[in-house]
Amino acid sequence: MRDENCIFCRIANGEIPAATVYEDELFRVILDMGPASKGHALILPKEHFKDVCELDERYAAKVLQLGGRIGAAMKKSLGCTGFNLVQNNGTSAGQTVFHFHMHVIPRYEDGAPIVTWNPGSSNPEELKETAERISSCL
Ligand code: AMP
Ligand code: ZN
Repeated sequence: MRDENCIFCRIANGEIPAATVYEDELFRVILDMGPASKGHALILPKEHFKDVCELDERYAAKVLQLGGRIGAAMKKSLGCTGFNLVQNNGTSAGQTVFHFHMHVIPRYEDGAPIVTWNPGSSNPEELKETAERISSCL
């Protein structure tokens, strides 16, 4: 299903032009208009899913492999030496467009840090308790 009020639905289905890297029956891959690095791409499903929790299995089964293909093509074509696959869910996680998308962000030698965090501390009891809490809701 598409949402006519959703900009990524409209881009994915060709109603609004974007720099397209790849297209098939399920996805359009475009360049991000505010790139974190040269070549930063977004994989957009052609149907509307708010986030990964809503993504249907037809798309879910293919999106990771597509991310790998796009990243490998970036390494060949742009000279990056790695790439990040990033996928934000919810405002607190940095999601700003509420149509599922996966970022493919090329990483260059000596490039600025992009996806980083400072490792916190933990102890085995706390990890066990937290693991059990998550597990109980699966
Ligand atoms: P997120 O923060 O994960 O929701 O990512 C949304 C991304 O979409 C941001 O990196 C934006 O720069 C990008 N973006 C938003 N609108 C457009 C657009 N019309 N064309 C290309 N990229 C867009
Ligand atoms: Zn949408």
